[in-house]
Amino acid sequence: MDILTRLASSLTDGAVRLVDLTRTLSPDDPTIIMPPEFGQSWPVKIERISRYDGNGPAWYWNNISFGEHTGTHFDAPVHWVTGRDLPNNTVDTMPLAPMLAPVCVIDCTAEAEADADFLLTRDHILAWEAQHGKIPAGNWVFMRTGWGNKTGAAYANLDAEGAHTPGPDADAIRFLVEERDILGFGTETIGTDWGQGGHLTPPFPAHHYLHGAGKYGLQCLTGLEALPPTGAMILAAPLKILAGSGSPLRVVALVPGGPD
Ligand code: MN
Repeated sequence: MDILTRLASSLTDGAVRLVDLTRTLSPDDPTIIMPPEFGQSWPVKIERISRYDGNGPAWYWNNISFGEHTGTHFDAPVHWVTGRDLPNNTVDTMPLAPMLAPVCVIDCTAEAEADADFLLTRDHILAWEAQHGKIPAGNWVFMRTGWGNKTGAAYANLDAEGAHTPGPDADAIRFLVEERDILGFGTETIGTDWGQGGHLTPPFPAHHYLHGAGKYGLQCLTGLEALPPTGAMILAAPLKILAGSGSPLRVVALVPGGPD
């Protein structure tokens, strides 16, 4: 059998399962709030045009509006100043190949549960590699924290200092980019960076190093507990927005093995 016929039958017989890693795009989604001197992202707005009524007796549809970085979404290299001059750095010009790629999943659930300010370090990554093997070039790396199961105030976890959510430290993300040549980094939290990442050096190191090297970001993922540490693939194709810096998207995993 040719490879795609085998894939199709594997999807039918359950040897490969599809798993949704996407939060429902909703007006309830928390929006990143910037300091007041900066511009702000639109929240998600869904406005009914008609629903089998006087505005459209046989059809239902909505107008929608949102910032590029709302809900489960993709960050393109152009999103950060370090990636602004790279070729094909926007969602409409990026290559197709990264949209279907393997993923390594580092489980930090216990650490994040014990400490909302948990920082993923190079040592954590090396310990993961001792167990699961070296992270191959061109892989997504997802930081699993259980954060995707939170909603509302617990999800944003804000106080007077800002957000308290887990993320990578500068050395960890630099290691993944420069020594492992990952494709991108994905999180369950509102950004790829640690909640207090503005205080790191450089500020927001995940954005700084990933996008400066032409790598991608995914955030507000959910359902990562369905993924094995290695061996799954991710379909993540952002909307083709003209010169877009990112977009909400559906992220679907292909996971090997029959039903549990
Ligand atoms: Mn973003």
